[in-house]
Amino acid sequence: MPELPADRLLRRGEPHYEQARLDAVWNARKPDRHPDVIVLAHDEQDVVAAVRLARDEGLAIGIRSGGHSWVGNGVRDGGMLLDLSRLQDISVDAEARTAAVQPAVKGPALLEQLAPHGLFFPTGHAPTVGIGGFILGGGYGWDSRRLGPACHSIRAIDVVLADGTLVHATDDTHPDLLWAARGSGPGFFGVVTRFHLDLHDLPRRILRTVHSYPLDLRDEVLAWAYDTLELLSPAVEFSAKVGFTPGLDRRTVSVTATAFCEDDPDILAPLEHAPFRHRALREVVAQETTMAELYDYADRMTPPDMRWALDGIWTDGPVEKILDAARPLLDSVPDTTSHVLWMLWGGLPERADSCWSSQAKLYLSPNAGWTDPAEDLAHEEWAHGTLAGLQHLSKGLQFSDNNLADRFDHGLSPANAVRLEEIRAAYDPDGLFRSYMTPQESTTAYAVAGHARTH
Ligand SMILES: Cc1cc2nc3c(=O)[nH]c(=O)nc-3n(C[C@H](O)[C@H](O)[C@H](O)COP(=O)(O)OP(=O)(O)OC[C@H]3O[C@@H](n4cnc5c(N)ncnc54)[C@H](O)[C@@H]3O)c2cc1C
Repeated sequence: MPELPADRLLRRGEPHYEQARLDAVWNARKPDRHPDVIVLAHDEQDVVAAVRLARDEGLAIGIRSGGHSWVGNGVRDGGMLLDLSRLQDISVDAEARTAAVQPAVKGPALLEQLAPHGLFFPTGHAPTVGIGGFILGGGYGWDSRRLGPACHSIRAIDVVLADGTLVHATDDTHPDLLWAARGSGPGFFGVVTRFHLDLHDLPRRILRTVHSYPLDLRDEVLAWAYDTLELLSPAVEFSAKVGFTPGLDRRTVSVTATAFCEDDPDILAPLEHAPFRHRALREVVAQETTMAELYDYADRMTPPDMRWALDGIWTDGPVEKILDAARPLLDSVPDTTSHVLWMLWGGLPERADSCWSSQAKLYLSPNAGWTDPAEDLAHEEWAHGTLAGLQHLSKGLQFSDNNLADRFDHGLSPANAVRLEEIRAAYDPDGLFRSYMTPQESTTAYAVAGHARTH
């Protein structure tokens, strides 16, 4: 039976424990939650040993891969924090068009290995996101409108189950487990030590158009973007942002379209016919770009070392109705870092082999970013409370941005949510693995003030 080397096990109060706890969360807003034990796993055998230790000592397990959960989901009170951040191995089988990737790998490292083979994967937009939580939560990555959510590219997983066994799970051997891994996010009940991923063709060109408009055009631009999606190829990722625009030094409504294409010079043409285009304050038109530049843009939208609160709803329907309900949110963007994303994913098709569900044409997401802890409540109220005013239009949330602790909504279709709990009961009957967080566990100022809804 594998043993954990002593320096990989930190009990509360021991040296290095507190640093490891803080390092487990990318957000500068650290949770006020303290696991009893932190395990710094170096390899799969450490993970097996950690799960067996947790069973023996009755410790519920929270997991950290890239540490990008906005609420620090892996860091819970009591129990074990299983830190997988050292699991960063990548191996590519170019002929089979697959890669075996460990959960703390980040997008740029993966794409760097794939590009020489002409291969690609829809990684998360920011370069620092770990693939572990990203893929399990669905994974809305670069070019996902065409390639689907990242979880649909899972071919198999290596996973340590609650009984302490490490299994290679495929659709043939463990269909229920694979179904759950594709989209249950922080509700998954096992430790994935390796994702076996189907790969895609590297796009020949990436083109980008950005138009920034004055804020008085906000509603007009958002409505136009909503309707214009229908004219765009699925190879075009399309979104708008309402917030401060560096360089212009003012708030704007900016639309961005990114095309992952072969040689199609007209792929972004529908943007050029925007009726208010003559009023653009700045524009970039079908400019050739690279993944490195795309990561850089994304990184600058959510800089590190800040406090972040995120939320979002899937919605569709008459856009005027959405805009009416969203006005309080859009009118009250709190500062120069916070913004609202109006992301036109278009409603991607669901699959029977995947629990990933609950999505619509538009993903509307407040991103609150600030630095002063005294401003926590105001920003969290904006991100979660103002969004609650759109609840009647919600078709669900993304587990990437919300794990149910600060605003409850549905992350799966009702039928899939029921099936997930049935599968969990079979695989993890004693509840060894933590599931979705509750408001009682959340330590955000918003939850502590009693504003978080349970259902
Ligand atoms: C700056 C930034 C940009 C982002 N951009 C995107 C984006 O473009 N698209 C998108 O879809 N999401 C995006 N996200 C959200 C992101 O996908 C989720 O926060 C995701 O959970 C991050 O994965 P992680 O491994 O880094 O997180 P972690 O905090 O390490 O993990 C979060 C949770 O996922 C589960 N988990 C993680 N790894 C494993 C594992 N190996 N086995 C079992 N369970 C595991 C656990 O419940 C864990 O607590 C972004 C987040 C940030 C902070």
